[in-house]
This record gives sequence, C-alpha cells and structure tokens, in this order.
Amino acid sequence: MEQTRTAALGAPDRLAAVARYEILDAPREGAFDRVARIAATVFGTPIATVTVVDADRVWFAATEGLDGVTQVGVEPGLCASAVLADGPYVVNDAAVDPRTLDHPLVRGELGLRFYAAAPIITADGHRLGTVNVIDRTPREVTDGQTGVLVDLAGMVVDHLELRLAAARAVRAERQLRTVADLRAERSDQLAARLRTAMASVRDHAHPDTCQLGGRESCPAPAELKVADSWGDSAWACPKHAEEVILQVSSVFIADESLGGLAAFKTR
Ligand SMILES: [Zn+2]
Repeated sequence: MEQTRTAALGAPDRLAAVARYEILDAPREGAFDRVARIAATVFGTPIATVTVVDADRVWFAATEGLDGVTQVGVEPGLCASAVLADGPYVVNDAAVDPRTLDHPLVRGELGLRFYAAAPIITADGHRLGTVNVIDRTPREVTDGQTGVLVDLAGMVVDHLELRLAAARAVRAERQLRTVADLRAERSDQLAARLRTAMASVRDHAHPDTCQLGGRESCPAPAELKVADSWGDSAWACPKHAEEVILQVSSVFIADESLGGLAAFKTR
C-alpha cells in the first residue's frame, strides 16, 4: 500500500504535470491565497492551505493561518495521501485515525486533529496537490462544505491553466519577435550590399528596366545584376533584387558580366 502510494507520488508523468505549471517554489499568488481564505471561512477552521505535492515534499502555494511554513514532508495520511484520493478526503480526529496518528503534524507542535482536503486534478487526470482545511480540534463536516473544497480545487486548476496559457503566449511572442528581428537584420545587411553593388555597376550594356517583374514586367530601372548558383542571372531593380534574394536562398548579387537570365524571366 505504502509502496503503491510512493510510486504514484513519484510517477514521472505526474511530476511532469507538476513541472509543466511552474508552480513549485513560485512567488505567492493572490488567487491561491483567496482560495485558502474561502476554504477556511467555509469550514470555520483557523488554517487552510493550497498545496502542490512534489516527489519528496508537500509545497504550500498558499497558507491561511499557518505563516512561515513553506513545505512539509510526504509522510502518509494528510496531503500526500489526499492528493491521490478520487474525491474529498476527511480526517475527523487525526489523533485516533490510523491513517494519521503517526504523522508529524499530528504528533508534533502543530497538534493537527482535523483535516479535510480535495485533490487538485488536471483535466488530463494528473494529480497536482490539494486544497485543504486544518484545525487543532476534531470536527465533523457537511457534504456542502466538502463540495466547496472540490469546487475550489477546480478553480485552482482553472487558474493554473490560464497561467500556463499566458506563459506560453508570452514565450511564443518572444520567439516571433526574435524571428522578426533576425529578418530585419538580414534585410538591413542585404540593403547595404545592394547599395554597394549598384554603386559598382559600370557602363556595361544592360537592359534599361528590371527583368524580374515576371509576367507583369517591372518598369523600374535595372540597377544591378543577380544570379543563382545554376548560373542564371538577371538585371533587376533594387526592390525585386531584394525580394528574390530573400525568397530564394541560392540567389546572390552577381558580377555584372555574368551571363544568362532565362530562369528569372518567368519568376
Ligand atoms: Zn523590378
């Protein structure tokens, strides 16, 4: 039984889900504090917490009435067991309950006697932690109260999903910006090379207008020559030269004496 529990807590896919939400050791968040406060109010308990269960520790994402505690161990009986339950997990009197009577929070200074929790389970079935309430005296609970715990656990999942979506959007935007910057940089470098090439065109006979307009034919003056690695070349206006160089990786600015242009005429 204990082995099964330890294996379930350490399951790589569960831990990957915990990691995905980047919640462990994250700064305090108002949303989780509010969840803990509502839980404490609904049960009338002095303590409520929102926990994330790591492989070897229970980390507190929010603590109401339990200042200064950031994490506890994964001894069985409380959060490290409740996280694996399929619904509300209630210990009315921890001092006599065989599941909890040896737990350090029960035997120790905190003197925990009452504990009720709902597991935080993601839409794809991963168990992340608990929303729970704690008291130093034994208590009974109503179905209405445990129902609120289940709803609060659902709200934690909703918040985590929103948070994850926002983080992903920021990351995607940053990536797009990098690509755009690279493109702009490339285009700046190219413009400089095009200017140099145009300046170096001597009096070689060349067509008056750009040959890269395709079927529409471009009326702009031909100012430089481009070629590709197959040896095809064409005279082009700066705009079409830039376009073809950016779009076709084998195209480069050619020496004006380079011949052949068949391939460009149809582009
Ligand atoms: Zn042109």
